[in-house]
Amino acid sequence: MKRRQFLKTAGVASLSLSAVGTASADPGETYRPGGPKRGSPNAINLNAFHTNDELARTLAKIERQSERVSLREIARSAGRNDPVWEVEVGDGDTDVHLITQIHGDEPTGTEVALDLIKTLATSHSQQVEHILDNLSFTIIPRVNPDGAMYHYDYDDDGTEEWVGRRQNTQPWTASDSRHEPYYHSTYPAGDPGYDMNRDFNVRPPAEFTPGADDDADWWTKEDGEWSMDMPHEGHTLFDSGLRLTPEVRAVTESFIETDPDYAITHHHKGGNVYPGSGDGNKPQKQTLLSVMAPYGEHYRDRSPFFPDDYEPVSAAVNPFLDEETSTRSIRLNSLVIDALAQRGDSVFDSVTRYGYYPLWGSYLDALCPNLANGGDSVPGMLYETAYQTDDLGQKAVGRMLQLTTTGFLESFEALADDPSLGGYSVDTYFDTPLFGESTGTR
Ligand SMILES: [Zn+2]
Repeated sequence: MKRRQFLKTAGVASLSLSAVGTASADPGETYRPGGPKRGSPNAINLNAFHTNDELARTLAKIERQSERVSLREIARSAGRNDPVWEVEVGDGDTDVHLITQIHGDEPTGTEVALDLIKTLATSHSQQVEHILDNLSFTIIPRVNPDGAMYHYDYDDDGTEEWVGRRQNTQPWTASDSRHEPYYHSTYPAGDPGYDMNRDFNVRPPAEFTPGADDDADWWTKEDGEWSMDMPHEGHTLFDSGLRLTPEVRAVTESFIETDPDYAITHHHKGGNVYPGSGDGNKPQKQTLLSVMAPYGEHYRDRSPFFPDDYEPVSAAVNPFLDEETSTRSIRLNSLVIDALAQRGDSVFDSVTRYGYYPLWGSYLDALCPNLANGGDSVPGMLYETAYQTDDLGQKAVGRMLQLTTTGFLESFEALADDPSLGGYSVDTYFDTPLFGESTGTR
């Protein structure tokens, strides 16, 4: 069965299961068929967040104040020509690569990354000293400066509002690739741009340029949109990215240079119900954090969506992640679940997970195989926090950011204690419920 056929089938099946745990919370991570409209703008008051200029000034100030931090411009955004920053901090042997706001309309990750960088740069707490002795961070706190600063007349009142945008702002032209890929869009407001978390490619840039070295046979057209299903080492990698954006090329180089031990990507999720809440006398509760681990064939049987006879394997799991990496990937997610459970903060007592299947143009699935560094594959985590201005006032947003930063710090403290994650169980992850049905908010 082709992946698209399968996903259409799975979409129908999951509807009858109230869409439990399918990747539909973040339209971010939604596969096209049956999902919400791509690029739906978020009703977020972006005035609460750093502009690109403010981000640059804040990072420069932190670098001036701290000898622990080094700051580097690794690219300029395709549309606005604004810098993409990379921050390095820490001296430990275990390298963590962390990216945020690859989707421009998901700004809290950047704020959390900034808080985290400030704390790591300036704090003399035992916790921070311990983290920095054991871990080294490479953080890209805003992968998508174009989308972050996107303006258009959102409410049709004749003036443009700063609303954020999922994509960057970059046109496609016929010389860029054989076909315009499905993840290039003109929504909203008619401006062209790429969903950059579909633009990654598993093959190393030094040996392969996807938009130039591809073959006509790899392309398929469905519902008027083109996808490149790239063959590699006996597998078909559906909807592979073309690495057409300067931002994604820079993140790819940053990852290859870092050759990290762990990879983390922060996203936003929509509002989803915590499974089982709202039963009996218990109030209905929203899950505010969902995590997801990429993994390989060793854990295929635990994949929530795939029947036994489902082929090919590359649509179910990531075959380039070996058993050891897959286990650590899952344990990294277990660590966060454990670290937050121990806090007892009500806001994080509702962690859920995504049911995993690979997206071959995404950061985690394309980069964690780490083929540029000899295939020494990297465990990963998708970390998604819910955010909704309609539900949360500014004070609550501040608290959410603070708790997310605290959650990250406690997770990194736990990782510093046990960098190989030997003390964590894969069952913690698989026993965590898939997130429940949508609350209808984003
Ligand atoms: Zn996202």
